[in-house]
Amino acid sequence: MKKYPLSKSRIIDGLSCDRKLWLKKHKKHLATPFSDHTKYLMRNGTEVGKIAHKLHQEGILVEGGWFDPETAKTETEKLIENGTPVLFEAAFMADGLLHLADIIINHGDQSIEIHEVKSTTSVKEDHYYDVAVQQYIAGKAGYDVKIAKLIYLDRNSIFDGTTAFFKEQDITPETTSLLDELDTEIPRLLDLVESNEEPVVHLGNHCEKCEFKEYCWRDMPEKNIFTIPRLNKTKANFLVESGIYDAEKIPENLELSELQREYVQLFQNGVTKIN
Ligand code: SF4
Repeated sequence: MKKYPLSKSRIIDGLSCDRKLWLKKHKKHLATPFSDHTKYLMRNGTEVGKIAHKLHQEGILVEGGWFDPETAKTETEKLIENGTPVLFEAAFMADGLLHLADIIINHGDQSIEIHEVKSTTSVKEDHYYDVAVQQYIAGKAGYDVKIAKLIYLDRNSIFDGTTAFFKEQDITPETTSLLDELDTEIPRLLDLVESNEEPVVHLGNHCEKCEFKEYCWRDMPEKNIFTIPRLNKTKANFLVESGIYDAEKIPENLELSELQREYVQLFQNGVTKIN
């Protein structure tokens, strides 16, 4: 067993940024505490997940949970073996990976459906990775995931904290198409998290909502390339890969719009334009 079992959430962190995963495992104290709004959204997500359990009156909540995943895994195996039709918080562990699934439909013969509950009102690309990782871990644990579904809030209903109306979408084709990529990425992330070396990564717009931004951007100049108006992704990537973050250091031969060039010159030459 690896020193740090990787959960689905940490894998999703690692897929977005190597350093984010590494910091969460090795230097979590560097994260900026969650805002009240983020905490509220997280609580909402948990409540919506519990309410979705009512969609399956016959469902059984697996004992153990995140506090005792070994027990949760053993209970999950027993319940699936015994033919329990629906499980909540079923635990899958294999190859240093760990996940507790919102809802599992048991079809027998190790064949299951995974239903992931989200407190959103639409299906987003991020959700495909979220569920694909679950499919990957369940597969490693010896289960055949026949169907992967996203259960999400119906935008025409109002979530009042106690009741909710849901929609569902079969996303099996999308999640299955990601499994080859995960087969390469997840073993790499397992090695990365074991390392004592903090990964060197490029900073960029993907840092915007990250809880480690304050730490990673501590040396970022105030007037940096990300403040240049409408700088496209290709040019931003070129500058990042050249190690240029300071707007003052942008090469003169880089093609910029008139507005962007004026903005950069403000810092390079102290030139201001008065209209
Ligand atoms: S701030 Fe950016 S570089 Fe740092 S951990 Fe977050 S996403 Fe990664």
